[in-house]
Amino acid sequence: MKKLISLTLTILILLTTACQLQQNILPQQPLPNNAALGQAEDNIKNQITDIIAQQIQYIKELNLEKYISLINPADLELIKEQINWFNDLKLEPVQDFSIKLLGIAEIDDNSCKAEVEQSYHRDGKKISVKYFKRFIKIFERIYDAGNYFEEVYNEHFIVKYTEQNKKLALELLQKLEPIYKEFADRWKLEPERKIVIKMFDHKEELRQSIKLSMWACAGWYEFGESIRMFIAKGKEDVGSIAYIVRHELVHLFTMTKAKGNVAYWLAEGLATNYEDVTRRSYASVMQSAKNRLMSIEQLESIELEKLTDMQDIRNYYINSELVISFIIDKYGEQVLDTILNGLAQMPSLEGTGHENDTVYREYLSQILPSVLGLRSYEDFKRLWQQEIDKVK
Ligand SMILES: [Zn+2]
Repeated sequence: MKKLISLTLTILILLTTACQLQQNILPQQPLPNNAALGQAEDNIKNQITDIIAQQIQYIKELNLEKYISLINPADLELIKEQINWFNDLKLEPVQDFSIKLLGIAEIDDNSCKAEVEQSYHRDGKKISVKYFKRFIKIFERIYDAGNYFEEVYNEHFIVKYTEQNKKLALELLQKLEPIYKEFADRWKLEPERKIVIKMFDHKEELRQSIKLSMWACAGWYEFGESIRMFIAKGKEDVGSIAYIVRHELVHLFTMTKAKGNVAYWLAEGLATNYEDVTRRSYASVMQSAKNRLMSIEQLESIELEKLTDMQDIRNYYINSELVISFIIDKYGEQVLDTILNGLAQMPSLEGTGHENDTVYREYLSQILPSVLGLRSYEDFKRLWQQEIDKVK
């Protein structure tokens, strides 16, 4: 039985800064404000209030270890996501980060749904989002269990969804096992755990769950994390969702194979090559890319997550796809496995910041020439330039 209690609590807003523009987004209906606080609920409310206050304190102190100690220790994907989220905040700080607890709906003895408002300032602008979080009790201690979802699962997947996407989650689950089999065969890899897919129904909630420094995205995966995606209301078509999941699953399989050491353009090149059930030929990709070709230097100078223009984003993806398609066409598909296996031998890094990409590109520059039988990465860049010059 659901019991509803309510409260209005502002938890520690670190500094006060005048805001020029307030962006307020309501993903779901707020909880009703109608029930009296019982003793047990009061106790849970106090504990959750404490957890949120500690989280904000640890963010202020940049104490990752203590911050993570508040997260559900059984949820390894969530822990990885929160480590990456926290490290992004260290690299690209925001002002006045705050979480306000708006209300609690007790679900059962060990799990609780809480409505929060999360906000911060960047460049003098206030950005906020209201969403639901789950808190769970393990041995009498309450932990933050991340964004609130229900879940369904099968042999290799757990699909987490909100009420809006319940039907879609069940339909999607039916489509996943054949993709898993195809990719497990293709990449000769069986992930150690069930693959977690989180279906957000609110774009800003998804963005703020990934990292505060980036713009919106429709789908996301980083090594060790869950696959996260946004499903717009009214756009709940399982075919197009499965397509996004395929793209993210290529990321999951290839990054797992390379232990996360994959440069952005290589990652996107692989994902766009394999997101379709039938891979496009090199000639066909070249045909669509021929008026916007980039050198490797140009491709590597772009910070994908900072792009906002849709045409720039498309150009980045098509050029990444084209280079990988060229490698497959000239050297054979099996060199991809050799490249990823080589990258897996390199030291892994924490976080998902752009600085990491510099290191991943360095790894690639060491691995790629020997796999392709070239003397240096410069030779590979020249080879690609010749290829571009042919069609220019
Ligand atoms: Zn991608």
